[in-house]
Amino acid sequence: MNKPVKQHLIDPEICIRCYTCEMTCPVGAILHDENNVVVDVDKCEFCMDCIPVCPTGSIDEWRVVKTPYSVEEQLSWSELPPQDEMDGEEADTSVEALDDEIAKLLADAHQGAGGKPKAPASAAKPTVNMYNLARPVTARVQGNYRLTSADSDTDIRHIILDFQGQPFPVLEGQSLGIIAPGTDAEGKAHLPRLYSVSSPRDGERPNFNNVSLTVKREAQGLCSNYVCDLKMGDEVRVTGPFGSTFLMPDDPDARLLMICTGTGSAPMRSFTMRRQRARGSKGGEMVLFFGARSPDTLPYFGPLNKVPDRVLRKHMVFSRIQGAPKEYVQDRLLTEEEAVAEMLQDPATHIYVCGLRGMEEGVEKAMTTIAETFGVQWASLRDQMRGEGRYHVETY
Ligand code: NAP
Repeated sequence: MNKPVKQHLIDPEICIRCYTCEMTCPVGAILHDENNVVVDVDKCEFCMDCIPVCPTGSIDEWRVVKTPYSVEEQLSWSELPPQDEMDGEEADTSVEALDDEIAKLLADAHQGAGGKPKAPASAAKPTVNMYNLARPVTARVQGNYRLTSADSDTDIRHIILDFQGQPFPVLEGQSLGIIAPGTDAEGKAHLPRLYSVSSPRDGERPNFNNVSLTVKREAQGLCSNYVCDLKMGDEVRVTGPFGSTFLMPDDPDARLLMICTGTGSAPMRSFTMRRQRARGSKGGEMVLFFGARSPDTLPYFGPLNKVPDRVLRKHMVFSRIQGAPKEYVQDRLLTEEEAVAEMLQDPATHIYVCGLRGMEEGVEKAMTTIAETFGVQWASLRDQMRGEGRYHVETY
């Protein structure tokens, strides 16, 4: 049996046939006829020179295949074939990313219970792997603001990166990598550390080519300390974007049930801002369950409270308030059992769980109890939602 190989393809539905990629390719692996622009698998050396020059992102398509598609086949396509299901781990880890380390990390983060992650049917098409360790893009720091109160031990920062004239198309729910300067003990460049983008697709500031991140300083964290200490104007090497399933539905009527802890709030902020900018207070309901130790360690506590309830129903849950019992997001899900049960029964509902790995088990248990109230087994409802691209997990 053939060993699966990663094949570079071009999306014929998006490509505008400008042939810039063909002119850029140093090994003549890209060619076209009157129908399509295609990549010859026998010549492509994965140098990635063609990726940043493509104005549409159509160049950034990858499939893991047992038998590569021939040039003739590709020239006849009007749309890309889906990724074939393949047995074993090889297919699971490599479909969406060129950088195997990052692919594995994200596949693991999106694992959750209930099978393979899937993007919502109406999600916009994500661009992935435009920049990698060998060819990062340089962004400039536009801002670095502390989100937690000055006297709190927890230092969580809102970092704004500006890509200036360079393309960096990113969707809500995607991540980017940051390469800390210097080398590791073996003299190799540090691998990029992943951070979820916390701004919407049209920029932290609308129509500016910038993104924001939510980063917590970890005592021994090589990259988190580097990022949290960045100054305005500093240059940062960035890879990505990454992630093709933890995305929000573009369907304006979709309802979002968002459950997060700590810095896992990053994608929830980007979802909320996207909806607010695109739909104002119209569109499907959004409900947020957000767990932190105390209000002064909860990122975006002030701004979140200003988002009106008709746009976002908020449940801020605190585990370490003196004199109050410890409460986790899963406890509050149970307190709000009736409202959650109603959302679970609505086929327009999408669930997002993001944050600490440990929260998954608690959320699963709470959902099991809640689903029982309307006579359904959570495991089968969850698997169905996952298969329909309506159940998304990102935990580390
Ligand atoms: P944290 O401050 O350590 O914890 C946040 C809250 O979660 C606390 O109230 C904590 O309670 C509670 N918690 C602890 N164990 C729990 C459990 N089993 N179930 C439910 N709640 C629980 O969180 P953090 O340091 O910000 O970590 C967030 C996680 O999100 C990290 O693992 C990070 O890697 C991940 N993440 C980050 C991003 C990003 O863009 N930055 C994106 C995705 C995921 P107690 O401590 O009082 O027990």
